[in-house]
Amino acid sequence: MNLTSLLINELRLSEYQKRALKKPDIKTVKDLLWHFPARYEETGEKTTIADLTVGEKAILSGRISGLKFEKTWKKKMNIARAVLNDGTDKINLVWFHQPYMAKILKENEEITVSGKIQTGKNGLPAGRQDLYVSNPTNLSKSNFNRLTAVYPETRGLSSRWFRFNIQKILNKLPAENFIDIVPQKILNKYHLPSLKNSLIYIHAPKQKKDAEAAAKRFAFEEIFTIQLSRMQKRIWRQKENAFSIKAEEKEINKFLKNLSFKLTKAQQKSIEHIAKDLQKNSPMSRLLEGDVGSGKTAVAALASFLVFKNGYQTAYMAPTEVLAKQLFDSFINYFSNTGAKLALLTSSESKKFPSKLKPAEATHVSKNRLLKWLEDGEIDIVIGTHSLIQDRVKFSRIGKSVYQNKKLAMVIIDEQHRFGTNQRATLTNKKNESDKRITPHLLSMTATPIPRTLALTIYADLDLTLLDEMPPDRKEIITEIIPPNQREKAYQKIKEEIEKGKQAYIICPRIEPSDIKKENLLTLNTRAVKEEYERLSKEVFPEYKLGMLHGKMTPKEKEETMKNFSASDGENRIDILIATSVIEVGVNVPNATVIVIEGAERFGLAQLHQLRGRVLRSTHQPYCFIFTESKSQKTLERLATLGRVKNGFELAEHDLKLRGPGELSGKKQWGISDIGMEALKNIKMVEAARLEAKNILSSDPELNNYPLLKEKLGQENLNIHFE
Ligand code: ADP
Ligand code: MG
Repeated sequence: MNLTSLLINELRLSEYQKRALKKPDIKTVKDLLWHFPARYEETGEKTTIADLTVGEKAILSGRISGLKFEKTWKKKMNIARAVLNDGTDKINLVWFHQPYMAKILKENEEITVSGKIQTGKNGLPAGRQDLYVSNPTNLSKSNFNRLTAVYPETRGLSSRWFRFNIQKILNKLPAENFIDIVPQKILNKYHLPSLKNSLIYIHAPKQKKDAEAAAKRFAFEEIFTIQLSRMQKRIWRQKENAFSIKAEEKEINKFLKNLSFKLTKAQQKSIEHIAKDLQKNSPMSRLLEGDVGSGKTAVAALASFLVFKNGYQTAYMAPTEVLAKQLFDSFINYFSNTGAKLALLTSSESKKFPSKLKPAEATHVSKNRLLKWLEDGEIDIVIGTHSLIQDRVKFSRIGKSVYQNKKLAMVIIDEQHRFGTNQRATLTNKKNESDKRITPHLLSMTATPIPRTLALTIYADLDLTLLDEMPPDRKEIITEIIPPNQREKAYQKIKEEIEKGKQAYIICPRIEPSDIKKENLLTLNTRAVKEEYERLSKEVFPEYKLGMLHGKMTPKEKEETMKNFSASDGENRIDILIATSVIEVGVNVPNATVIVIEGAERFGLAQLHQLRGRVLRSTHQPYCFIFTESKSQKTLERLATLGRVKNGFELAEHDLKLRGPGELSGKKQWGISDIGMEALKNIKMVEAARLEAKNILSSDPELNNYPLLKEKLGQENLNIHFE
């Protein structure tokens, strides 16, 4: 019997409990067993009431009397009270907010509880007069572990409920239900406990060591299966066919003359890697990882140029319209003398370059016409957003054009971390086609610096090229944390820069002012784009032109704003752009030299680094002013790292240490659980998982000898996660 096929309903739950289980999405026995504790509480020593000390945790056994259930009229709070007598003395027990205690507790019953001994008015008037135990944990039906599992808060279900039911299942289910997905050999080699033991340990550890061993085992399983799955995909991809793209040095040099700068060594090296990959008959899978502003676009352009020169198409996907448009404009620049036909495809517009009437410009065309051109091979390079994949009709037409005319030879995915795994896959593998089909080469790009362990795990299917050098003559950014009473100083600096002809960004965490009724105090203070725009226009920068950019604007409005912000002169030029973090990805306005980030405590270090990357795009001295209202020492220290550390990868490692990996990038984003993320602090484990995954696949790429792993990986492929 498979654990997933055992429905939770068999536990004979009440309607109330069934409803409560909806929120953590627990449907099967497996879901319940894999609902891990958030933490453990030390239950303390078993002692007697006569020996109690205030402030300590203790376990007490005795008989209860004087049960009372009340509801305070003011706060409508349920309170249950009882007096515990263990023969040595009496003490009060008080439960707040636990109405179900009325059903559990019975007058005169023998119970065992654990909790912290407190003093105060709740203590009167039992034996040890001033003492009481607040919210004691009822241990009566469990065995006396020193640690008690506390589960993530679930409305309507107590930790005790989880402990009780999980124990029931673990005791009842026969051993054959717990088949380890991790091969026994590997468990032995790394001294990892078996599945059943791990489940027992994680829910009811006798000591801390047990819980840690169990967590390690589940973390290993997760990291191991992710790597296995990515490596397997890589093996499959390498078996597919791709167009071989040749590179001619003469042509390359001609193209490079079109650029207004000389390539850095790192850019040259990346292009060599890419050219070598493209030459092969099997598809390239390369990730170009380079800090913001390191010049990935030029590398992508050169790769596209090689593909174009060989007579094939490139599809270039970016996560936002603003970025897609900007890339389109850059490509028009790079390709103006090459004869390449370029297209832009987003949900709101389709454009083509060059225009028939004005060959130096791009022109709007109807979407249908553009799709037809794509299909006919009229277009050499199409740049777009999710539109390239989301709309099925468009996608299949692109697919058709590709495979009927054998045209599409390469896809580029910019800021690839912004796409879900499946969105990326949709662009690269076309399903339902025979093996002989041609698969496009893949160039993925990202500026998100992530810790090495995370990269090893989630990018196990990609070859990595690091763009570890900035274009020459860049000045080191000056990053300052500005306390609330020194705002003026930063505004003054902005004015100075604008007077020098430069521009500035001001980033706010939200679009609209907060609705006081709906929001909690934490978000009340955060500044909103619309409000700040009004305030700054009137009060601080009346003599300058301000603009706004956020996700609720129409594409037309956004374009207009970006156009005016990108224009370094002209009467419509925007001096200061007030924006949400939409500008975080890729936006390139080299003339902007100052960035102010409001509510900085709400962003992760990596994201803050991305944001400040907006002003790292020229040889001018850049400034980043971090505004925070936070008084938390921890937060301030975290933000201070930003001033010291200028390298994104180093920052990512700091984030991992300081905040914990879960917060670093969000498990949602990488599809890794909290336990798995925790494991990423341990490079040895990640490397071990990698080694074992490699070993298994080298002798059994289809995992035929590992049916459980094979099944699990098959399911994982169905898991779509979007950001
Ligand atoms: P990112 O890697 O963040 O995508 P971009 O490709 O947008 O960076 O490049 C950032 C800026 O640096 C652009 O204005 C680009 O024209 C410029 N740039 C790129 N490569 C070089 C280089 N080798 N020398 C000087 N400037 C460069
Ligand atoms: Mg970029």
